[in-house]
Amino acid sequence: MAYAYDDQNIFAKILRGEIPNSTVLETDHTLAFNDIQPQAPVHVLVIPKGAYVNHDHFAAEASDAEIADYTRAIGQVCQMVSVTPGAGDGGYRLISNAGDAGVQEVPHLHVHVLGGRVLGRMLEKAD
Ligand code: 5GP
Repeated sequence: MAYAYDDQNIFAKILRGEIPNSTVLETDHTLAFNDIQPQAPVHVLVIPKGAYVNHDHFAAEASDAEIADYTRAIGQVCQMVSVTPGAGDGGYRLISNAGDAGVQEVPHLHVHVLGGRVLGRMLEKAD
């Protein structure tokens, strides 16, 4: 499968330093920053520095080093913002939207780390 990456997306601009961000964590292959429109007291976006559209693109084409770094960075962010179960506000949700049905707004892989309050059920029952 060929994945088309649009390097004009807003997270690509953040990675190039063209748009400012509120950084939570930066590692060799990953950047984590606060969402500009938080949906919960904790709302951090974690993105790989590489040009990947979504999770299945990343899983198919990223190096083992990138995947390990990204996975560990997400866990580290959970600890840094004190949402790890048993600590601080206790508990979080990871969401990664992809494509039209997933209602993905920005076409660069990101995981939302949400927490700081009880988040309710995962999905509204629509039909
Ligand atoms: P998606 O709907 O693609 O899963 O989520 C995109 C997220 O990016 C949204 O939660 C939105 O608030 C956030 N976002 C969009 N533009 C910016 C920006 O310029 N800076 C930051 N920090 N977040 C952004």
